Amino acid sequence: MHVNVSPVTISSLRAALNGRVIEPNDDGYDQARAVYYGGFDRRPAAIVRAADAADVAHVIKFARETGVELAVRGGGHSNAGHSVSEGGIVLDLRDLCEFDIDVEGRTAWAGGGLTAGAYTTAAGEHGLATGFGDTGSVGIGGITLGGGIGFLVRKHGLAIDNLLAAEVVTADGELLHVDEQNHPDLFWAIRGGGGNFGVATRLRFKLHPVDSIVGGMLCLPATPEVIAGFIAVAEAAPEELSTIANVMPAPPMPFLPAEQHGQLILLALMAYAGDNEAGNQVIDRFRALATPLADMIQPMPYSAMFPPEEGAEEATAVARTMFIDTVDQATAETMVEYLESSDASMRAVQLRVLGGAMTRVPVDATAFAHRHSKIMVNVAAFYEGPDEQAVREAWVVEFSQALLQSDTGAYVNFLQDESVDRVRAAYPGSTWNRLREIKAEYDPTNLFRLNQNIPPANG
Ligand code: FAD
Repeated sequence: MHVNVSPVTISSLRAALNGRVIEPNDDGYDQARAVYYGGFDRRPAAIVRAADAADVAHVIKFARETGVELAVRGGGHSNAGHSVSEGGIVLDLRDLCEFDIDVEGRTAWAGGGLTAGAYTTAAGEHGLATGFGDTGSVGIGGITLGGGIGFLVRKHGLAIDNLLAAEVVTADGELLHVDEQNHPDLFWAIRGGGGNFGVATRLRFKLHPVDSIVGGMLCLPATPEVIAGFIAVAEAAPEELSTIANVMPAPPMPFLPAEQHGQLILLALMAYAGDNEAGNQVIDRFRALATPLADMIQPMPYSAMFPPEEGAEEATAVARTMFIDTVDQATAETMVEYLESSDASMRAVQLRVLGGAMTRVPVDATAFAHRHSKIMVNVAAFYEGPDEQAVREAWVVEFSQALLQSDTGAYVNFLQDESVDRVRAAYPGSTWNRLREIKAEYDPTNLFRLNQNIPPANG
């Protein structure tokens, strides 16, 4: 159902709010409706930059009463364009960016619209960190509610494994304090269930002493032997080390020899959260796989893993996310063959070896059900225009099918706008049923539906 909302109705909303309301004729409208990925040129009736939880509650009430589509925006990085609506209201949380740290207690309350980079920099000033993902501009709300797999995943688990509490405005406009004792069912659901259950205005996290790490970028030539070897070494490494390996044509980066540009490389981002000397010894095992094309791994503050992203170009991309069990020689050969067979301006397979702390949380303790998945894989290609989109889409689908092994799960935060089956893959078996029951309790009319949607039970 598509419900239009008139400017008169919007002005009644404007009067009730502390934050700014941006309509199509207002300055800054185009900037305010832009999201990270290209291809989502949607024109909302208004963007509300909420100033506080009361604003969030007002907007939710407004959406419920008018029936207008509601998009919730944190960092704006949804791969599916879920943080902007055509004709609806965008509830923009960017101004909810407080950071209130208890250094001695090693916890922090953070606003639901804070970015992972801002959080990491602020916590890093005290030698403390919580792991989110690999990109500073991602919002802590979106990444945490879906799980959160980043540079500390093997050492300190998923972002949700460090979530202690949240303040959530539910579909009825009520602000709830949610933790293990209060609304434990909702606390279970928001740890993996995404934005289906309400808007998190504040989140409280555990912090860990992560002062200096050994980290940065290592580039190796991407032969099948090196790819399979890299994964084997990463799997055998102590859990202090988390890695993200991208196999892709080398971009024209100044630190890579010109003759490498366009050739397949393995560009790895690595973080060893432990003793520097031990870290260096572990990284040496990767350096021994082949003569590095670039080696920027060094001791650094953890926050240096999130450099400024100014000037990043808007990309339109198709992608598939999945888990696999192993990268043997044959699998690595398949990767090289597919990457060499495409002429997309950018194409990549990203490999993240999981394990460690994330596996020690029981599968049914949260709504993230992939605790024992071994390796997360993201296949992606850039495109320009609809004709090319279809070609790239076919390529990512075929490539991901060629890689499929026994694990049929998917990580919700990397899904695009795909199918119900793919959302089910993110929430297998009893996780799905339990989420639907909790959805029926907290959002029976499916107000929060512009997301990887979990329909209410009996809905
Ligand atoms: P938005 O588009 O603003 O939000 C996405 C959805 O999350 C919204 O539609 C809404 O449903 C919900 N949401 C956001 N904030 C709130 C809130 N406070 N309360 C309720 N609902 C909310 N994921 C990883 O796990 N690890 C990574 O390393 C990683 N790297 C990434 C790198 C890039 C460049 C990109 C684009 C994505 C990456 N992701 C990663 C995926 C990312 O976690 C998801 O796209 C996530 O949803 C982005 O959150 P956001 O707040 O930035 O996005």
